[in-house]
Amino acid sequence: MFRRCCEPVGLGVGQSGWRLKAGCDYIAVLRCHLSSMFPSTRIFPLSVLALFGFCLLACGDPKPSPGGELVVSVRPLALIAQEITKGEIPIRILIEGRDPHHYAPSIPERAALERALLIVWLGPQMEGVMAGQMASLPAERQLQLLTNSTFEYQGASAADMHLWLRPRNAAIAAAQIAERLAQLRPQSAELYRRRARDFSRSMANLQKVLDRALWGYRNVPIVVTHDAYGHFFGSAGIETRALAYGSDRGYGARAMLDLSGAGEGCLFGDVPENARDRQLARHLGLHYGTLDSLGAQLGPDASYRDLIESLLAQARGCLSRIPDASTRGSRN
Ligand SMILES: [Zn+2]
Repeated sequence: MFRRCCEPVGLGVGQSGWRLKAGCDYIAVLRCHLSSMFPSTRIFPLSVLALFGFCLLACGDPKPSPGGELVVSVRPLALIAQEITKGEIPIRILIEGRDPHHYAPSIPERAALERALLIVWLGPQMEGVMAGQMASLPAERQLQLLTNSTFEYQGASAADMHLWLRPRNAAIAAAQIAERLAQLRPQSAELYRRRARDFSRSMANLQKVLDRALWGYRNVPIVVTHDAYGHFFGSAGIETRALAYGSDRGYGARAMLDLSGAGEGCLFGDVPENARDRQLARHLGLHYGTLDSLGAQLGPDASYRDLIESLLAQARGCLSRIPDASTRGSRN
């Protein structure tokens, strides 16, 4: 009897299903336990009523609290948000050590999403698997950055939206975050907007430094295993050639053929360094380097500027091995 009535029969997939698994569908869980304990007498002791009341308090619909978290999909968005919040709002990073293209939230992570003050993510074009969960959450508690059309894409792929790799785009994202937080916390609105303006000025300068540093490498063949890095190199006029597009990580024979004999250049793969990408670089006659697009290797107190500066150092680590290119690069 217990087994039959405790099966999730009649519950739809999605929110009801996960709430039952989490023990939060208290009515179904309590009713079936009671019927197995008191099959014939329908005894309903006071202690059970107290338990029922406790379950109501513990498992009621999660609501965003005024002091709730700012939840972001990936760490670079946390670094950008931090420029606006300056530690005054706790920030939770949802996707760590996993691929944002293929990430699906776990049950505790879904609960965190439901409780969040605001959720910042790129959109279904980037965090595709997460989009299903986001569709069930109210629009006023999420900020889809890609709905903003002012991001720049020069030299970058529109199929793989690692927009945070370009400082000018980080400034646009920060302004969006500041505006939404200003609506949620009007008493701090001016503070958030002022921080966004300061960050924007700082990012305009950082973009110039980055473009100058990379400009000398614009004629060097750069192949990337992941079509994200045009957002980093593209503003300097550097064209990257990708072995895989968007969330696809398989390298086609055609792409390999097109890229063989490209000349002395670099193949950049995602961190961590690995034998497969190293072998691929050797096969294509390229030097091999890695790039940390998600800031996974940065220290806990790193800033957004640290992310960009570490990417530049990683890029130069490979590019400076090309004699002509390193001469050109060092003059800038
Ligand atoms: Zn990607």
